[in-house]
Amino acid sequence: MSELTNLYQEIRACTRCPLHRSRTNAVPGEGPENAEIVFIGEAPGFHEDRQGRPFVGAAGRFLDELLGMIGLSREEVYICNVLKCRPPQNREPQPDEIEACRPYLDRQIQLIRPKIVVTLGRFSMARWFPNSRISRIHGRPRKLGGRLYYPMYHPAAALHQPRLRRMVEEDMRRIPDLIAQMDQIRDEGPPQRTQQLSLF
Ligand code: URA
Repeated sequence: MSELTNLYQEIRACTRCPLHRSRTNAVPGEGPENAEIVFIGEAPGFHEDRQGRPFVGAAGRFLDELLGMIGLSREEVYICNVLKCRPPQNREPQPDEIEACRPYLDRQIQLIRPKIVVTLGRFSMARWFPNSRISRIHGRPRKLGGRLYYPMYHPAAALHQPRLRRMVEEDMRRIPDLIAQMDQIRDEGPPQRTQQLSLF
């Protein structure tokens, strides 16, 4: 069994935060273990919780569409979330839940070793772009420790807002060129352990 499969088992048995009590299924993530691109959303919603798979509802269909625009299918990329269990009524992730789930996300990235991590929405963005506003920094990559971190709006936010939708599409279209030209982007050094959202 691969280390990533082991990790999935750990996540499915996780009781590190109270969300495990209300989940139907944990949603570890899915995609090739050597994917070049990792997409990180916020948390499972209703359909994801039912199926145990990330981005299978309306936002997921839009993500599939966006991937199609750059000639990719979801099977070719890795997709996961900051939280692996659904918050009740799809409320926002809480700082203690994010912190409890953080080691899982860290290990996923360590094991997959992608060229680019695409953050979808502000909760995954906050991890590598603390104190930043998505409206300012979306579509602007940072290179840390040889890897690109690329903030995009969450597809669910863009789904019904034509202006955001255009931005998400434009940001997505830039990904192939960013990967091709990543050697030319200045590296800021290894990622710091930033406090993503204060507990207090
Ligand atoms: N929204 C997310 O952030 N993640 C999912 O898996 C589905 C919807």
